[in-house]
Amino acid sequence: MNYIREIDPEVGAGIIAEYERQQNNIELIASENILSTASMVTMGTILTNKYAEGYPGKRYYGGCKEVDVLESLAIERVKKLFGAEYANVQPHSGAQANMAVTMAVCSPGDTIMGMSLDAGGHLTHGSPVNFSGLFYNIVPYGITDEGFLDYDEILSLAKEHKPKMIIAGASAYPRVIDFKKFREIADEVGAVLFVDMAHIAGLVAAGVHPSPVPYADIVTSTTHKTLRGPRGGIILSTAEAAEKYNFNKAVFPGIQGGPLEHVIAAKAVCFGEALKPEYKAYQEQVVKNARALADELIKRGFKLVSSGTDNHLMLVDLTNFEGVSGKDMQNLCDEVNITLNKNSVPNDPRSKFVTSGVRIGTPAVTTRGFKEEDMAVIADCLYKVATDFENSKEEILSKVSGLTKKYPIYEG
Ligand code: PLP
Repeated sequence: MNYIREIDPEVGAGIIAEYERQQNNIELIASENILSTASMVTMGTILTNKYAEGYPGKRYYGGCKEVDVLESLAIERVKKLFGAEYANVQPHSGAQANMAVTMAVCSPGDTIMGMSLDAGGHLTHGSPVNFSGLFYNIVPYGITDEGFLDYDEILSLAKEHKPKMIIAGASAYPRVIDFKKFREIADEVGAVLFVDMAHIAGLVAAGVHPSPVPYADIVTSTTHKTLRGPRGGIILSTAEAAEKYNFNKAVFPGIQGGPLEHVIAAKAVCFGEALKPEYKAYQEQVVKNARALADELIKRGFKLVSSGTDNHLMLVDLTNFEGVSGKDMQNLCDEVNITLNKNSVPNDPRSKFVTSGVRIGTPAVTTRGFKEEDMAVIADCLYKVATDFENSKEEILSKVSGLTKKYPIYEG
C-alpha cells in the first residue's frame, strides 16, 4: 500500500483509507468476507498481463502453457471441493455465471421461475431491470408471511406455468433450502433445475449446509462471499448438462472475452484453502456465530424474519422499533463503524429504498476471529443504535473499537 502511495499518492491514499475503514469497522454485510493474503497477492501478480481467450489446451493466443496449468488446477480443485463433474472458472462475477447459464439453457421468451427480489432472490433470477427479466418470461415465487419458502406454492406455480428452468437460491434467505424438494418439483414439470448457491457456497463446501450438487442440473456461485475467495463466479454441472448446453461456449465467446487468469489463480488458492480441515471449522463457526447473534438480538426484543437462522445470515425486522427504518439503521450504524445493509421484510410497509429491516451476516467477523461471546456485544451495540443512539454513540464506538482492536485484519 505504501508502495502505491509513493508512485500514485491519490490512489494510494484511497486504498489506505479503505484499509483503515475495513480495519476499524465491524463488517456485517452478509455477502462480504476477508480474503486470505495468499489469494489477494495472487491477484496482484504478472498473470494479469496474459491474454488467454479459450480454454486450457484450446486457446486463441500463444504463450498459454503456464496459465493452462493454473486454470486446470482451479477446475480440478473446485470439482473436487463440490463433487461436480464439470466446472467453468472463468465467469468474471456471479451475475456473469448466471447470464451464461440462462443463455445456454433458455431462448428469449422462455418461461423461468425464480425467487423474487423482494422475497430475497437475486436480480439475475428475474428482476424486470435485469437481463433475466428483460429477455425471459419470469414467474416469480415468494415466501410465506413467516419468511419461509412455500414448496407447495412453488409446485403449483410450476404446474400452472410449465417453466423451462427453475432457479433456486437467494441473496437474503436465512433458512436451509431444500434442494431435493426443488428437484422433485422440477421433475414433475420437466424443468431444468439451476441452483445459485452464491451466498451459501462456503457452508456447502464445508458440509454445513446440504449441497445442491447431487440434485441440480447446474449450480453457479460467486467465489467471494462465504466461500472466501477473490471476487468472481463459477459454473458447475453434471457432465450431461455440460454436454447438452455447452456452458464453455456460453461464457466465451458468448458473454465474455479474455479470462482473468490472475483471478482464476486466486480462485485456485481459495479452493485449495477450502479443501483443508481448518476451513470446515471456520464455516462451522460462521453458523455458530449467526445463531448466537440471532439469539442475542431476539433476547433484546428484535424480531427476526422466520424467527431465526440456519445459515450465515439473518433478516432483522425493525417494525417494532418505532420510527427506525432499515435505511435509518444502516446510516446510524455507519456512524458508529458497524457496516450492514437495509433489506425489505415480508409485507414491508416501506419502499425498497427505505425498507423496514436490515440483513446481517457473520462470515467476515468470523474470519477475523469473533466468537459467540462477541456476538452479545454486537447485539448490544445494535440495540443501542435502534433505541438510544444519541446518548449511546460514544459507548458504542468504544465497544466497536474494542472488538476491532482485539481481532485485527492482515497483520504481519
Ligand atoms: N447470486 C446471488 C444469490 C447473489 O447474492 C449475488 C450477489 O449479490 C450474485 C448472484 C451476483 O454476484 P456478483 O455481484 O458477483 O455479480
